[in-house]
Amino acid sequence: METDKSITTARMTAELRRDLSPIYGDGEARAMIRLIFHSLKGWSQTDMVINADTPLSDYIIDKINDIKSRLLKNEPIQYILGEAYFYGINLKVSPDTLIPRPETEQLVDMIVKENTESDLRILDIGTGSGAIAIALSRNLRFAKVSAIDISEGALKVAEENATHLHADISFINCDVFEYSPKPDSFDIIVSNPPYIDDSEKKGMESNVLDYEPHSALFVPDNNPLIFYSKIVELGCKSLSNGGKLYFEINPRHAEELRQLLLDDGYQDVEIISDIYGKQRFIKCLRSDNKN
Ligand code: GLN
Repeated sequence: METDKSITTARMTAELRRDLSPIYGDGEARAMIRLIFHSLKGWSQTDMVINADTPLSDYIIDKINDIKSRLLKNEPIQYILGEAYFYGINLKVSPDTLIPRPETEQLVDMIVKENTESDLRILDIGTGSGAIAIALSRNLRFAKVSAIDISEGALKVAEENATHLHADISFINCDVFEYSPKPDSFDIIVSNPPYIDDSEKKGMESNVLDYEPHSALFVPDNNPLIFYSKIVELGCKSLSNGGKLYFEINPRHAEELRQLLLDDGYQDVEIISDIYGKQRFIKCLRSDNKN
């Protein structure tokens, strides 16, 4: 009789595809299988082919079966494996941090491409896993990056990521509502704050609702720009002349936020769409020259 010991890579892969495809679709299931083998065995897709007939150890079989049962309950694979890909790097993530999204990679890419000068002073507000801060620090020349977050758990993850990825970042554990940096402290302030209205919860998937930190996602319906208005005020006080604000936003409130920025004297206010065609970012300039 066949025992578990004879489970080969090929057989395990087929079983995973059979069980995961009905919920995730075949393409997504195959991508997950590649991530699982990469994370547990360090294998590339080629290694998986070369090792198709290799029997897997009981330890690996148990691990994979555990991962599979968690995936079947809709837990995001990034939390199960403890890592997520973001802008060319692998970041540790935990339930204290959001899983970084492709839209946020676009925000980082925009900042990297538009700010080619060196020695920029950058602040990331609500850094979570440190994704934005670390990606900017690694891609902008001699940038001096600071990052704040109210969550101690998130900051621990961000600090680990920064150390591991050799990014020199000053992390500050603090609530943005209590934070008051000195005038002319930063050339760029970036933030992807909580921006989903509480009332949008009902249309959301359980993989987000049941697993990701709600404090990083949701804002009250009666004050959806609560974080933005605080950061806009902070920018007025602490951005340099010619300094820039970059936000990831909820498309529902794009116009309201544009008006807020204009009312507070920011210039060159621009709304930018994401890869899905949604108004997802806003950027603007702080200038002392009043025209
Ligand atoms: N983009 C995230 C989502 O759609 C939300 C991130 C946020 O609230 N800042 O789930």
